[in-house]
Amino acid sequence: MFNKILIANRGEIALRVIRAAREMGIATVAVHSTADADAMHVRMADESVCIGPAPGPQSYLNMPAIIAACEVTGAEAIHPGYGFLSENANFVQIVEDHGLTFIGPTAEHIRIMGDKITAKDTMKVLGVPCVPGSDGGVPDLATAQRIGAEIGYPVIIKATAGGGGRGMKVAQTAEDMEQAFMTARAEGKAAFGNDEVYIEKYLTTPRHIEIQVFGDGKGKAVHLGERDCSLQRRHQKVFEEAPGPCITPEERAAIGKTCAEAVAKINYIGAGTIEFLYENGEFYFIEMNTRLQVEHPVTEAIFDVDLVREQIRVAAGLPMSFGQDDLSIHGHAIEVRINAEKLPDFAPRPGKITAFHAPGGLGVRMDSALYDGYTIPPYYDSLIAKLIVHGRDRPEALARLGRALGELIVDGVDTTVPLFHQLLQQKDIATGDYNIHWLEKWLETAQFDS
Ligand code: ADP
Repeated sequence: MFNKILIANRGEIALRVIRAAREMGIATVAVHSTADADAMHVRMADESVCIGPAPGPQSYLNMPAIIAACEVTGAEAIHPGYGFLSENANFVQIVEDHGLTFIGPTAEHIRIMGDKITAKDTMKVLGVPCVPGSDGGVPDLATAQRIGAEIGYPVIIKATAGGGGRGMKVAQTAEDMEQAFMTARAEGKAAFGNDEVYIEKYLTTPRHIEIQVFGDGKGKAVHLGERDCSLQRRHQKVFEEAPGPCITPEERAAIGKTCAEAVAKINYIGAGTIEFLYENGEFYFIEMNTRLQVEHPVTEAIFDVDLVREQIRVAAGLPMSFGQDDLSIHGHAIEVRINAEKLPDFAPRPGKITAFHAPGGLGVRMDSALYDGYTIPPYYDSLIAKLIVHGRDRPEALARLGRALGELIVDGVDTTVPLFHQLLQQKDIATGDYNIHWLEKWLETAQFDS
């Protein structure tokens, strides 16, 4: 086992990793930008190293500085958290070239899944069901129009290098194709330096269901059921739950087995998430994330596992501490993402926290790097806390969420908390009857006090 690991991230996810490491008796090194000198992850780690100025590219994405921080402190492995360098295959290569361990999948797996066309081709071969669409990249508008006519409108044009909801455009009819095709290409080029796009059938009322998988890198893999992340705004998740309200045990067992077998076949190591759209009882693969997800705590709650501990174990060459038969679901868990944003526009609101109180009690978990008097810097993601509740069943989890939100105090900045108070009043949320468009449609008429 490692003696010391470095966490190449900030915020709540850096704390999450520090907590797992400490329970395992592993020393931790935090890295931080000048803007984060007073951040909670710096205070909580055993050691810290400043790796550059505030902007991400000069600090949390600064590979030479992160490697140097490992060398100076004697850290043997790097946990990347999510975002930043977590899905950067070049970084993994550099880490390994320096004789360090990357706590995550191999550079090759990251590369395959990071290119959506290659990912889809790979999954098809592994027997995972995919959204109908173009066979690989679409070179020009004429080909796009021909494929659009073949599969039938609406279609979605996606940048193969896309992510975070960017580089995707819907063409409702043939007339929209030119604009959608050109825009998706331009966005892919501008944001990711790659203008290759592909086309998929646009599903009109799907749910977003994702399967958590975990592999030991030696041909053994398990699944940990699904998460329903259909409540999204601009393709960004805001509310996640497990198990999915509409998934039967039979469906879970079948799709879970397909996913676990697929990743076992490629000797996948560590945590991964295979994302699907789910419509009329069918699963359609859209992408695989080769890292820990923001919403992993709902899975941890219902399966009673520590996914970060497990990531560290397999990275150190130890076997997984559970097999498929050890995994069973207990109750229901929900996570809400609390952002420093002002409703109804979700405009970022960094600033000073004048009072902070985290909820507690039975079945409540708060993953947050906030503290009284902390100033949220304007340079990074606006996620400031994840509130996770666990109950014996879905109604209990919903009631607990309402109770915990009522206890939470975050003064000084605007947050998305009022959104969740209101969502809990909606009949469709109570019954679990929503799809990926529900939230945006509801937001069109929702009223928030200013
Ligand atoms: P990203 O990598 O940017 O997150 P994804 O491929 O995971 O992109 O898609 C993100 C979201 O976009 C999905 O959760 C879903 O809401 C929507 N989406 C993607 N593909 C389709 C599709 N074929 N039909 C309908 N919606 C889609």
